[in-house]
Amino acid sequence: MSQYCDVALPVPLDRAFTYELGELEAEVGARVMVPFGGQRLVGIVMAVHDAAPDEGVEVKRVERVLDEAALLPDELMELGKWIAAYYCAPLGEVLRGMMPLTAEVKRQWTYRIGEQGRRVLYEGAAKGSSRRSKLTPEEQNREYAVLNYLESGEPGKVSAIRSATGANKAMLDAMAKKKWLVREPLQEVRDARRVEMVAVLEEQVVGNREQGVEEQQTKRLPKLNENQLAVMAELAGCGGRELVRELRIRLAVHGVPESSLGTLVKRGLVRLEESAQAFHVTSLSQHGKKFAHEHTLNEAQIEALAVIAAAMEKSGFRPHLLYGITGSGKTAVYIAAMQRALAAGKSALLLVPEIGLTPGTAAQMVAAFGSEVALLHSQLTPDERAEQWHRIRKGEARVVIGTRSAVFAPMPELGLILVDEEHDSSYKQEETPRYHGRDVAVMRAKLLGCTVVLGSATPSLESWSNAERGRYVRIEMTERVASRPLPKVEMIDMREEFRETGKEQLFARRLIEETTAALGRGEQVIILLNRRGYSFVVMCRSCGEKLECENCAISLTYHKGGEEQSLNGEARVGQRLECHYCGFRRNVPKDCPKCQSEHLYYLGAGSQQGEEILQELFPGARIGRMDRDTVRTRGDMERLLAKLHSGEINLLVGTQMIAKGHDIHGVTLVGVVGADFALGLPDFRASERVFQLLTQVSGRAGRGELPGKVLVQSYQPDHYVNQFAREHDYTGFAAKEMYFRRAMKYPPLSVLANVIIQGERLEEVLGWATKLGRWLSQHKPEGVRVLGPAPAPNSKLKRIYRYHMVLKADRRDVLSAALRAMLNVVEAEQIPRRAVVVDVDPVHLM
Ligand code: ADP
Ligand code: ZN
Ligand code: ZN
Repeated sequence: MSQYCDVALPVPLDRAFTYELGELEAEVGARVMVPFGGQRLVGIVMAVHDAAPDEGVEVKRVERVLDEAALLPDELMELGKWIAAYYCAPLGEVLRGMMPLTAEVKRQWTYRIGEQGRRVLYEGAAKGSSRRSKLTPEEQNREYAVLNYLESGEPGKVSAIRSATGANKAMLDAMAKKKWLVREPLQEVRDARRVEMVAVLEEQVVGNREQGVEEQQTKRLPKLNENQLAVMAELAGCGGRELVRELRIRLAVHGVPESSLGTLVKRGLVRLEESAQAFHVTSLSQHGKKFAHEHTLNEAQIEALAVIAAAMEKSGFRPHLLYGITGSGKTAVYIAAMQRALAAGKSALLLVPEIGLTPGTAAQMVAAFGSEVALLHSQLTPDERAEQWHRIRKGEARVVIGTRSAVFAPMPELGLILVDEEHDSSYKQEETPRYHGRDVAVMRAKLLGCTVVLGSATPSLESWSNAERGRYVRIEMTERVASRPLPKVEMIDMREEFRETGKEQLFARRLIEETTAALGRGEQVIILLNRRGYSFVVMCRSCGEKLECENCAISLTYHKGGEEQSLNGEARVGQRLECHYCGFRRNVPKDCPKCQSEHLYYLGAGSQQGEEILQELFPGARIGRMDRDTVRTRGDMERLLAKLHSGEINLLVGTQMIAKGHDIHGVTLVGVVGADFALGLPDFRASERVFQLLTQVSGRAGRGELPGKVLVQSYQPDHYVNQFAREHDYTGFAAKEMYFRRAMKYPPLSVLANVIIQGERLEEVLGWATKLGRWLSQHKPEGVRVLGPAPAPNSKLKRIYRYHMVLKADRRDVLSAALRAMLNVVEAEQIPRRAVVVDVDPVHLM
């Protein structure tokens, strides 16, 4: 038995800590609870040994061993170590992100019905609620509802019981005291699947839906009040089932009290079910069925599949880049490849940028794989995440679809990793550890020796150059399915527009004409206006002051208020100025806070203003808006997409959200407004981003029977980004852009790290930045160029001052060595580790 263990803790320190095991036994990879700096932390055992620490070093004892066996398989431990080394991140913080720690150690109670409770329930049912009691009738009803809910004898968690019945923990404890319920602690490592409450219309109601719910209701149930009818109608509108969580949000929008649902449950018109399946699977599979017709793969798809399948058969690390233009049918290839993996007894992982933004893809996966699917996304609670995690770990879900951190899904027999829209910057985590999900996916495949496929219509230059150099196998799908043509892209020169009309207009005449024509033909139109809010700059005409956030060096955006209210049930928010970084809000001042002049003016149109102008221009159009203000939950997105698919909306304005993989067949015209503004940003990836955006948004046009057209309003129509986008020439763009990157020594032709030095006090930050800058310039690490220190482009965020240095090198090992040496200086100089953020392979330098 070993005496000591080294534990990686979730603290910003780049080393493990030694603890004494005493009588306890722990395996490498298991979690332990240990005292650390006055608190208790859960960490991972990295090593067990008998080497006593140096004399005089006080060694504390492990308090508890949480797992008998390693929680993370070796493969993931290795991956964690790689991430820690590659991204210069503390191992404990990396590992914490790889497993559902927090939910595990929280003690939770469950309640199940007791004998006494059962008696009360049945007697109550016989006699009606005539029990003698100090409780109000309402409370009695609620207790009754709890007993009813727990009737099966299965234990329930407080959260589940609460959402079903409205009873709080105090009430449950009171019921336990009366011995109606039995209270038990939940096992620490739970097997339970993720449980969600679903409200289901009872059969007889659903069965008669053709007659119309209302008619039916009035016939059978004359006593339902308006609110209860609203609940029934809402439920019927979702096909008879809906998550209670989702339903609540919708009811809140209509001002229907939650208790109405409870009443319907009591009356036996609505049943509450615990659904073991995650992520809205029911409505997703309906969605999937609607839009995922089974296609016979076309030739290009068959060829792509053949390459991937052959790679899987041979096993071994085989990275692929699937370059398939928009509408070439990549999703069908993913599904077919995953089916092959399953058939071979393997599991398959699909990473997507954000499930909520493209519910269509998730829906198709659910339609194809049913209960084999686990979905991991950002809207899961820690508990839910933990439950999914255990389910995956046990091999119960052999298909996992998830966002960035799903790359750590503990899947046994992983045989295929797919990364959809691999160019998407949301794969990069913007907090420690700052890993890139795509690159970790490739590394995981390498450690496992399995196949990985990165898919995109606009591959990142990193992946493209890997393919060019033969490190990745390139698979191309250069045509749209069913020989549909790519849309014709035309530029509208906004300088000319101004010359001819003599005024600044948001929408060019040409775009207005073509929109009128398309709407007139019964087609749909999408317009990209990539800023949200009404105006994104508020400025004083007298003193030139721009109104900025109190916490950040960022312009405040003017929001007019109005319709972007309570989709999520939140209080209505009226007109305001808002910081899009930290969410700070303030009233719109009457005059300039600096010089008191009353001449404030509003510049730069966002999507909200776009919508308003479109309403004036096209009073007959059915306009929808898609941005962070109108789409807050996945449910919002699904509703909006459903309206687009059904044609209820025929004119959509929105931010880049509208460019994300949506497959709406009626769209024939896409307008792009002000997108090349971003070409002027001080970022070496500016061109690449604009090209991706133009190509992706263009890709939304002409996906159905009718061909599409794209009109791009631009002040620099001759810019090479616009030119290549017009020709749908990704390859040409990549070659040209690569030329600039080479000349400027930017990635992928060099490697980069952004070192941010940050803190609450500017003098302190300056002092640290100077120290590190001086050290770097004195020691001049061989082969590394250092730019800065200088104020970061976002020089203050959330009250934190930010300086940065950019380190550039030709070789990865040289860069890593320099960063490690610098971190040693950080420690030696006693600069707090949290004050120095190392961002390896940054996606932007802000
Ligand atoms: P991508 O992701 O490459 O842009 P999608 O996977 O969204 O393309 O597919 C585009 C459209 O083509 C979808 O409507 C899809 O259902 C359809 N589709 C896919 N494969 C085929 C096929 N073999 N034949 C006809 N239509 C197909
Ligand atoms: Zn002023
Ligand atoms: Zn702010």
